[in-house]
Amino acid sequence: MPSDDDGAYPQTLAVQPGLQIPPGFDSFSPPTWRGSTVVFRNLAELRAHGDAGTTYWRYGLHATPTSEALCQHLAKLEGARDTLLLPSGLAAISLVYFALLRSGDDVLVPDNVYGPNREHGEWLARDFGVTVRYYDPMIGAGIGALIRPNTRLIWMESPGSVTMEVPDSEAIVAAARERGVLTAIDNTWSAGLYFRPFDKGIDISVQALTKYQSGGSDVLMGAVLSRDEALHARLKRTRMLMGWGVSADDCFLVLRALPSLPVRLAAHDRAAREVAEWLSQRPEVVKVLHPALQDCPGHAFWRRDFSGATGLFAIVLHERYTRAQVDAFVEALERFAIGWSWGGAHSLAVPYHVPSMRPAGSWPPEGWQHAGELVRLYIGLEDTRDLIADLRRALETKLSA
Ligand SMILES: *Cc1c(COP(=O)(O)O)cnc(C)c1O
Repeated sequence: MPSDDDGAYPQTLAVQPGLQIPPGFDSFSPPTWRGSTVVFRNLAELRAHGDAGTTYWRYGLHATPTSEALCQHLAKLEGARDTLLLPSGLAAISLVYFALLRSGDDVLVPDNVYGPNREHGEWLARDFGVTVRYYDPMIGAGIGALIRPNTRLIWMESPGSVTMEVPDSEAIVAAARERGVLTAIDNTWSAGLYFRPFDKGIDISVQALTKYQSGGSDVLMGAVLSRDEALHARLKRTRMLMGWGVSADDCFLVLRALPSLPVRLAAHDRAAREVAEWLSQRPEVVKVLHPALQDCPGHAFWRRDFSGATGLFAIVLHERYTRAQVDAFVEALERFAIGWSWGGAHSLAVPYHVPSMRPAGSWPPEGWQHAGELVRLYIGLEDTRDLIADLRRALETKLSA
């Protein structure tokens, strides 16, 4: 059997070409390391694969230098210590549930939570012996009265996915800490940039990287961030047992988009506020649910807790318009695509019939007059003059004031 490369048979050289790539190439972009097998230099290295503290790479499912680069970048932006990457935002939510809850435990979830999070909770309640209770997102310190001895986790979402209430996260965290209950927030709306959960004492942050962090409407990924080492170890172990990993190519795509994240968010913010303010003058619209505008429940908490707003908000139309009319308005929009997810360059619109989504009955808020159907708008990176012209035309042709 020939022992050096030159003497090997072609079939071996196809597998072991013994490449000599000159070192020294440098670029701003970290290399994309793909790999299932991690090659160890010797058996001692292979055997020293204990969970914590090891500096060895072990297996491509758990981490690669490319995923590690993304983890560190995200932790730096949000002020976390550790990041775990998951194949979607929903998988990140699922990781938090499975890492922290056991049969017999109780969890509190806001009534306006991201729909699939609600369904996930209902599944745990039905099949895994966990009690899941939904609270009014504006409950504030009142959450204390809902905490039971077996309550392990309180979810928050700020603002809520569709109805955009901004909770008093300080009051909720204070009540949770007093009773030793962990808190987790879905921080997707602020992309981990405009709201700093760890400075507020929140234990876990979840981000759907699918949204602004990827920015291209073409990657699915999620992250769970934390500051406490022991908590991270629990989350990490659950992630490993679930077999949840991410592709290095997808990590590369998110890493590529992160340097422009702050300037993209600022552009979405400026454009969304302009469109929201224009809509607030329209006779067809009874409420503009944008955290930076007065109408939005929790506006004062947004002012206290956030350093900016982003591209997603909602409008509530007058109750005189039927669901069919509101659907026709959305379908008449030409600059806004109809579709889920957001965070990319393209503007989107989706109508929602909120009462059917809120079993705890916290909708519409007390004192609101004439609240009808809701339309969620996502303002992308188009020129706002075109977006406003499109909205004006669709309002005027499909809904009469
Ligand atoms: C989109 C979204 C998620 C889920 O992200 P996916 O990657 O689509 O699973 C979770 N939370 C919020 C608030 C979202 O908007």
